[in-house]
Amino acid sequence: MPTNARAAICRGSQHPFAIEDVVIDDLQPNELRVRIVACGICHTDLAVRDGHLPVPLPGVLGHEGAGIVEEIGSAVTVAKPGDRVVMSFNSCGECPSCSSEAPTYCYEFFPFNWAGARPDGSPTMFKNNHPVNASFFGQSSFATQAIANERNVVRVPDSAAEIPLERIAPMGCGLMTGAGAVLRSMKVRANMPIAIFGTGTVGMAAIMAAKIAGANPIIAVDINDERLALAKELGATHAFNGKDDAIAKIRELCPNGLGYAFDTTGFKSIIQDAFGLLAFQGMLGIVGACGPEEVMQFNELEFMSQGRTVKGILGGDSDLVNFIPELIGYHLEGRFPYDKLIGYFDFDNINEAIEATEKGTVVKPVLRISPE
Ligand SMILES: [Zn+2]
Ligand SMILES: [Zn+2]
Repeated sequence: MPTNARAAICRGSQHPFAIEDVVIDDLQPNELRVRIVACGICHTDLAVRDGHLPVPLPGVLGHEGAGIVEEIGSAVTVAKPGDRVVMSFNSCGECPSCSSEAPTYCYEFFPFNWAGARPDGSPTMFKNNHPVNASFFGQSSFATQAIANERNVVRVPDSAAEIPLERIAPMGCGLMTGAGAVLRSMKVRANMPIAIFGTGTVGMAAIMAAKIAGANPIIAVDINDERLALAKELGATHAFNGKDDAIAKIRELCPNGLGYAFDTTGFKSIIQDAFGLLAFQGMLGIVGACGPEEVMQFNELEFMSQGRTVKGILGGDSDLVNFIPELIGYHLEGRFPYDKLIGYFDFDNINEAIEATEKGTVVKPVLRISPE
């Protein structure tokens, strides 16, 4: 039987999000229906609102949901009704990337995450008997109920029973991306210098992970001094303001070059400068998106003769089932204190939450959607 719900409808950058009544479809065999307790707001939601990504609107966004499973399809084994779960991106499970435990690079990423419907084209949400674009990242969690797939749901381990779901919600996107970039994609080694450009959620997660990996020094670069102060609280040993000749300061601090540079800004000049700072066998990891027309330049002789690597990174190379519980474990040990980034907002105040992140007053807004 279809389920009534409320969802925040996005109609583009000229309109505020509007919370309206919707109906959630019946489940397919591999799906779960989750009562959403909380959902983080991410830069990607806003990029879709602004038309920068090929996701159909109007629609329901939200891809950092956590909640309680209320119903499961006949083939689901990953969780059962009553389980606490956190959601992330969806993937096909069959392509060469999914087959080699690299689902962030799923060949079918678009139809499984951005098509506004299930991969078979059927809608998961309706309003006044008309389909609504949803199934965003296999969830659309700016809503009181969401349909997820068993491939993008992770059961919260019992060891984390004390951690409220509203704190676990943002785990499945920016936090996983930043931490995974350091611990999985770049496999940062102890005692090697790393510089992290940009201290939003992804950059801050990378700083905490660099400390877990034992990198040294850990250099944060941003143009916001308050963010830089927080970066030092979270593990950065040095914090340089990008307006104040940060590149020269890094050169002075690390005369042999950087073992790792990590860009979250997507600015061409920063990425090229970061490449120029690498040591022998240094690696530049890139998660920040430039404009579609941008082309990078680098010196081939430096690149080849020093054995450097430039690596594009999606989702921190995370395989959800293993990596999200690993991060929850670090949080329980006090080594991944990402809760310092979070500001909570009631679901009805979604537009205020978005304003706070756009102004930079809150690093990671999380919507409280229903009581746990
Ligand atoms: Zn995201
Ligand atoms: Zn795949």
